[in-house]
Amino acid sequence: TAQLALARAEDLILEIPDYPSEGIIFRDITPLIADGDALRATVDAMIAPFAGQFDVVAGLEARGFLFASAAAYTSGAGLMPVRKAGKLPRPAVTVEYSLEYGSAVIEAHGDFPRGTRVLILDDVLATGGTLAAAHDLMEQLGYEVAGTAVLFEIEGLGGREALGDHELHTVFTS
Ligand code: AMP
Repeated sequence: TAQLALARAEDLILEIPDYPSEGIIFRDITPLIADGDALRATVDAMIAPFAGQFDVVAGLEARGFLFASAAAYTSGAGLMPVRKAGKLPRPAVTVEYSLEYGSAVIEAHGDFPRGTRVLILDDVLATGGTLAAAHDLMEQLGYEVAGTAVLFEIEGLGGREALGDHELHTVFTS
């Protein structure tokens, strides 16, 4: 059943110490997405609270794409890739945000009508900087954020607080 598959999915997220740098515990979701039942149960659980409330699913490059495309397919919604700097072929709206060291840029084309309801997906929430920037980006594009969902929330890094009042749904929590 879906419940069993979801319980197995949690066990399939590996904790990799000191990757990509010392002191970071990297959550590796590749064993989870390798399991068809676990992948399906996970995607279903990410979007369940938002059923009927979104027109488009936005996925954050790169692991967010994996969940967003499955979510879009299963719900009949469109798909919006939110890309890192310099990968889009046409003029795009850009948001710069700070990381622990330095900064990063995300971008998206403005191909949807103003007011389009967007569900934003990513794999892991850590400090929340990436998803907060994605919210900014959607606002600058004139879209309405229907909600945000991540597969895995790392607690204690302030990610939830960084998202302010925006509704955040997490499937698994550290
Ligand atoms: P943040 O902006 O700090 O919330 O970081 C979230 C982004 O970085 C997501 O796109 C994640 O894929 C990635 N990320 C950050 N920390 C981790 C981690 N410990 N394990 C896996 N991915 C992470």
